[in-house]
Order: sequence, then structure tokens, then C-alpha cells
Amino acid sequence: MIDARRRIPSVEKILESVAFEEILDSHPRNLVLNHLRDEVDRIREYLGSGIDTEDMEDPTLYAKAVRWSLETATSPQLHPVINGTGVILHTNLGRAALARTAIEAMEGSGSYSNLEYDLNTGRRGSRYDHCATLLHELTGAESALVVNNCAAALVLALSTIARGRYVLVSRGELVEIGGGFRIPEIMRSSGALLREVGSTNRTTVQDYLDALKECDTALILKVHRSNFQITGFTEEVTIQDLTKLGKEKGIGVLHDLGSGLMLDPEVLGLPPEPRPVDSLSVGVDLVAFSGDKLLGGPQAGILLGKQELIDQMRRNPLCRALRIGKTTLLALEATLSLYRDSSSAIDKIPTLTMILSEPDKLRKRAETIAGQLSDEGVDADVIEMSSVIGGGTFPGFELESYGIRIQPRQQTVDELAGALRSGIPPLVGRVEEGAFWIDFRTVLEWQDCQVINALCGHIVCAKG
Ligand SMILES: *Cc1c(COP(=O)(O)O)cnc(C)c1O
Repeated sequence: MIDARRRIPSVEKILESVAFEEILDSHPRNLVLNHLRDEVDRIREYLGSGIDTEDMEDPTLYAKAVRWSLETATSPQLHPVINGTGVILHTNLGRAALARTAIEAMEGSGSYSNLEYDLNTGRRGSRYDHCATLLHELTGAESALVVNNCAAALVLALSTIARGRYVLVSRGELVEIGGGFRIPEIMRSSGALLREVGSTNRTTVQDYLDALKECDTALILKVHRSNFQITGFTEEVTIQDLTKLGKEKGIGVLHDLGSGLMLDPEVLGLPPEPRPVDSLSVGVDLVAFSGDKLLGGPQAGILLGKQELIDQMRRNPLCRALRIGKTTLLALEATLSLYRDSSSAIDKIPTLTMILSEPDKLRKRAETIAGQLSDEGVDADVIEMSSVIGGGTFPGFELESYGIRIQPRQQTVDELAGALRSGIPPLVGRVEEGAFWIDFRTVLEWQDCQVINALCGHIVCAKG
């Protein structure tokens, strides 16, 4: 018997075949050649293990494989996903979904813009001026600076104000936010020196006073414990008292808030949460927060506060390295301008809309979808669930929600979850108690029909 591998035609010959005409029409020859070589190698290896395959002389076998591998290799790697997890600010799924007006605003990056051009004078302008006026209008902050994310904002502030000098932080606030963000490490990378004060559960004004006596202090940093709580025998110094202390001693105070909530938490049905405006109103020198957490905008780090400090930061060469892109600025400005009217913010910013979605409405949506699925022969129960805000905010806080639960019979739940993840668009849900759960709070309403399509395509029905 001859070696089966010898029956594989040459790469050139395969490429010349009719089966490859269309592929070569729509892809560069070199790319097709590389993919074909890989396929041939794979088949050769497969045959080398002693298994015989028929039809290996047929070019359509190779064409089919190459078409598939080209499609996988040339389709975008980053694409929309349906979030059925019930985690509103899901960090792994890109945190906040943007408002329609923010998406439309980003169209502006398809042409030139006045990004760094002053249209009044015809001279050079600054990209940092665009959102500054709006942020002043919304928060009363003297000045503003927007960089890549909140971590960048902190590194910039610390490096500008406290390089080589001490920054006081309560031991109860040396937090890890996740994704490599730890206060002591951020501090080190900025060149500032960390001086821990107090204990994990209790820090008093006296602790700060003692530290101020002992070291060359440039700044007091207060970090909001976004993602955990400490309860029991605890004490911490309020931002109001810290600001007072800073003023008395001539030391700046920076409040790292993380979440950037603009509206009253009570209006959103949320537990108390410090907001940038609250800290600014007690006279703090600087606040820092994210654009893509509770603000509901694009990834950005926003610094608000004293003009002099903001100007110093703008002049720091590091600011150039952390500078924000025009597409992000367009989306941020559009998001912020929705906050001029809080009801339009609630209606149009998906993060806020999702927080305020009525459980009753979610239940009705779940029932409608379960009904449509049942018509297609897919069994789904409507189920009460609880959603969370996520993104390292509001630990332990849950929102009553509704979704559907599917218990696949002909496949394992992991197989189903895997199949749904590989769909277009992928659907990510929760796998719990041997079932697949989809929480409708985080499914954008226009994606409901995509959920149905995804489930109908991937559930192995008894019926069919
Ligand atoms: C989330 C968070 C950060 C980090 O913000 P990014 O925008 O993700 O860089 C910093 N500080 C606090 C308190 C946070 O909650």
C-alpha cells in the first residue's frame, strides 16, 4: 500500500483548481496560500498517524477548510456580546454599555475635528478643554482633566503632587480594585511614598496628625472602598474632616471615588454612595473617578478640582502619555451632556436605565421570550433572579430581577453554555445548579430577539 500522504496534491495544484477561484477573488493570494499550507500540514499529520482518508485528492476538501479558517482569522476578535449575567457593569464584558447619543457622537471621529484647535482664534487649542466646561457646569468643579482611566488619573495626580514625598492613606483603604489595581502598587509606580495610617478597621484624625508630624507629607489620599465593606468595631475619618485637616495643615486632599455617580443614589434606589459633587462641596482639592462605571460612559479617568493642581498635572509629561483619544472624548462629552437633565440621563444611559428597570417589566419580558421559545420547542422557566451593579461597586447589594432558566436534556449545561458563547453574537449567561440562566436586566431590549435566535440555534431539542 502506498503512503496515503503521497496522494495529497501539491499546494500549487490545489490553488489552481476551480474550487479556489472564488476564495482567491476575495482574499490576497499569499494569505490563502498560508492558510492552505496549514491545512495541508494538518491533513498530512492526520494521515501520518495511520488513519486513511478518502477524497484527499479532491480540492473542494481543502477549499472548504481554507474558507472556514480564513473566515475565523479575518473576522473581528472584539465584537458585541449579549450580557445575560445580570452584572450591570461587567468588567470582563466591557463595563458600561454606551448611550445611543454617545455612539452617534463617535461618528465625529470619521472626519477632522477641533480636537486641539481653537475655532475662535484659529490657533492651537487643548483637547482637555472640551469636557472641562461641561464638567464645571455639572459639578461646580473649578477645573477638570480627563485621562485614560481612573488608575491613570491617580498615577498622574500622585506623580505630579507627591513624587518622592509621602502620601497618607488609611490602612482600611489600601484596597485592591481588581485587574491589577492595588493602591500600594499604584503609589509605588507613581514615585510617591506611602505612609499608612491607623489600622485596618479604625483610623482617626489623630492618626493622620501623628503621621503629619513624622513625615514630609505632600498629600492625603482617601480611597473609596468600592468593592468591600468592613463592619463591626470600625471608625474612619470623613472626607469633610480630612479636608478640614488638610486646609489647617496646608496639605492637599485627593478623594479617589472610583464609581463617579452623578445622580442621587436614592433616586436610583441605591444604598448611600459618595459622589464627586459631595466631596467637591466640602472643599476637597481633587476627586478622581472612572468614566465607565456608574457614570455610564466610555473608559476614562476624570480628575476634578483646584485649577492650580489641574494645571500642574496638565504640564506633567506623564499627562501626554496618558492622554485620552478623540473618539473617547466625543463619547464622554455626549454622555455628560445627558446629565444636564437627570430624567434624560436615566432614560438614555443604559447603565442607569438597567439599574431602574422594574422587576415587573423584566418578568413580562422573560414571559414573552419563554413563550416564544416554547413555540420553537425550547423549554424555559421564568425565574426570579438577583442582579448586581458590578464593576467593583455596591458590594452585597442586589436588585430583584427576572430571567429564564434552561435545563438542557440532550446536552450538558456546560456544552450549552459553550455553544452559546461561540454564537454570533455570543450569549453569556450564568451556569448555576445544573441550569443555564439569563437575567434580562442586562440584556439590552433590542437584543431579545437575538437571545431567542441563539437559544433556538443551540439547544438540542428532543423535537428536532
Ligand atoms: C474602579 C476604581 C478605580 C480604577 O478605575 P479604572 O477606571 O478602572 O482605572 C480606582 N479607584 C477606585 C476606588 C475604584 O473603584
